Amino acid sequence: MRWTTRIAAAALIAILQACATPPAQTPPPPAAIAEARPPVTILISIDGFRADYLQRGVTPNLSRLTAEGITGPMRPSFPSKTFPNHWTLVTGMVPDHHGIVGNRMEDPAHPGETFTTANDAPYWWNAAQPIWVAAEKAGIHTGTVLWPGANVAWGSSATKADHGDYPGGIRPRDWLQYNQAISNKQRVDTALDWLRRPPSNRPRFLTLYFDRVDMVGHDHGPDSPEVTQAVAQIDAQIGALVDGLAVLHQPANLVVVSDHGMSETSDTRVVTLDLPADSYHLIEAGPFAALDPLPGKEALVEKTLLGRHPHMECWRKAEIPARLRYGTNPRIAAIFCLAEPRWMIQEKRPEAPFTHGEHGYDNRAPDMAALFIAAGPAFGHGTVAAFDNVDVYPLLRDLLGLPPRADVDGDDAPFRPLLRSR
Ligand SMILES: [Zn+2]
Repeated sequence: MRWTTRIAAAALIAILQACATPPAQTPPPPAAIAEARPPVTILISIDGFRADYLQRGVTPNLSRLTAEGITGPMRPSFPSKTFPNHWTLVTGMVPDHHGIVGNRMEDPAHPGETFTTANDAPYWWNAAQPIWVAAEKAGIHTGTVLWPGANVAWGSSATKADHGDYPGGIRPRDWLQYNQAISNKQRVDTALDWLRRPPSNRPRFLTLYFDRVDMVGHDHGPDSPEVTQAVAQIDAQIGALVDGLAVLHQPANLVVVSDHGMSETSDTRVVTLDLPADSYHLIEAGPFAALDPLPGKEALVEKTLLGRHPHMECWRKAEIPARLRYGTNPRIAAIFCLAEPRWMIQEKRPEAPFTHGEHGYDNRAPDMAALFIAAGPAFGHGTVAAFDNVDVYPLLRDLLGLPPRADVDGDDAPFRPLLRSR
């Protein structure tokens, strides 16, 4: 065979091989992706998942992640409520500093307006920059399959424009409007669909949010079989996510958290506020009560409430115990009362229906202990000592390679010995 023929034959073989094995630059079917994908960071919240739910024997997938990665007891921030803690997890700041000081708030700078969990006006949220905004500013594509605050046009100082949005704000590049009807499976499938895209349009940071365990905990109480069943259902979805990532050959650093635990409540454990109706303005009641005395009624309200009572203690906001790290924000009401875990503060004795589980108590109460598991290529294996959830943002920042921020209340020290160098 002459050289030219040999070269032609070799070329033909190469072409045939190329036909048999698609070269890397043509898109292969998803299941056969051999591309070396960079790890995606996925922050998963199972709302209201008390740390000890892991011991119920119904969480094989979370237990596997625990065995492969790192875990440790995580304290929520005070108050142990959903919106304050979800904002802490993604900003690294305590509620007193980031401004989401309750699930229901009023703000002296915006009289007549009330924050509820459906409120997306950016001014409520702008005091603390969430991780997805920091990431987007650094050119990292982010996506949020639900997260409290992820639907907010963060940073916009404007009022709502005629077209119904706040101009100039930053959101995750991919996000979903919260809707309880989006099933748990749809949430996982959405995250996997976004990761199935071509590299140029694929998120490198994702959030995933499940609220079912919390809702069932309120309705039936933390020790109910219904909660155990809900825990098993969400664990199965975590398993589906892990399996889906494996099919995509997508390495992932998973950080699985909850915002708070759950305490059993009952209509037999109620503290009533013994105040005339015309003496105060109530902002929120339940595990804690936040209220402002009406003009001229300050002395009466303080005399009645301040100090210790059976199953409740009340303070002026400036005198809230330092360990709670709460009381300087203008959105915190003048008088703050905190119930013992398992007790509820109400204006008057409640009428049915009554919740069987609540949270919002002292963030160091064992019932409020939150879930924390992290697993993936960035993590070694082991247990971290008890830490506060303000430390999760610095961990996420490390995983994404973002610079430190001076206004953050936490740091990555608890995790540093267990992080693999990247
Ligand atoms: Zn919650």
